[in-house]
Amino acid sequence: MNARVARALDAVTAERAGDALLSVRDLTVRFRLRGGRTVAAVTGADFDLAAGECLALVGESGCGKSVLASALLGLLPANAETSGSALLDGTDLLAADEKTLARTVRGRRVGLVPQSPAAHLTPVRTVRAHLEETVRALTRTPRAGRRKAAEEAADRAAFPATHLDAHPHELSGGLAQRAATALALIGDAPLLLADEPTTGLDRDLVERTADELRRHADDGRGLLLITHDLTAAARIADRVAVMYAGRIVEIAPAHRFFGTTGPDHPYARGLLDALPERAFTPIPGMPPELSDLPEGCAFAPRCPRATDLCATVPALRAGVACHHPERPRA
Ligand code: SF4
Repeated sequence: MNARVARALDAVTAERAGDALLSVRDLTVRFRLRGGRTVAAVTGADFDLAAGECLALVGESGCGKSVLASALLGLLPANAETSGSALLDGTDLLAADEKTLARTVRGRRVGLVPQSPAAHLTPVRTVRAHLEETVRALTRTPRAGRRKAAEEAADRAAFPATHLDAHPHELSGGLAQRAATALALIGDAPLLLADEPTTGLDRDLVERTADELRRHADDGRGLLLITHDLTAAARIADRVAVMYAGRIVEIAPAHRFFGTTGPDHPYARGLLDALPERAFTPIPGMPPELSDLPEGCAFAPRCPRATDLCATVPALRAGVACHHPERPRA
């Protein structure tokens, strides 16, 4: 990609991001554990998501991605403390009460493909019953049309018609995943949170699911794709946000992140280098415990660029939180 095309794409991305559907500011989540320990699950997350945009939130397991999504839907356990704001079309999702979230947000304004789909399905009901019930609850489809609408929803997520009358325990992980995606697409919520929607799927189904989610965004909805599948993210994302140890450490346009320029944060570069189709070189070491974060930059023990400066936490500046990014900030 030449520099002029890259600049044009950057301008389009910036314009989209400036017209935010979801605006998250300083989102912080702490879990208070017995014995006085605290888990710093998410710290100071800031990002916008525009209608028609797909933002991929990537990072290793346990970095806080799913906690962030759960916070947006008020689905955190009772020992969670949340601060900051998350404005969705005038509603602060973090401040909204349970009644508002249950009646007007979940499913209607924010769809969710949950990370553990089997756990979200009722064991005694078939997939068809789940789909028809969701069609009834979220759309104005008359009773006579619900069966067909349910079958169409299944087809959108590549869920086979032959398994519509199966119960959750009869589904493989991949089928449960597709059932969850079908349920999340019903109602066409303006914002869709898709938490690891390609887990357990073969590569061709990964591509089909990713493309269906992309179509959802192309129809004018926002898509927050939470994934460790960088190939799926590269296929459909407009921008990429990288999380490490509860913090967003880089946000970049996807074409730059996955293109020849590459990301600027050492951790983000390491994630890409670990891919089999790239250098296939894993990042040394392990992420820190979120209940025992080091002082300063949490990536420092694994970072080839670390210096004494890194004893202080770097702020997110011009899209990267690093004292020594690949391309230095002015
Ligand atoms: S702030 Fe320092 S330790 Fe952290 S990623 Fe940047 S260079 Fe590495």
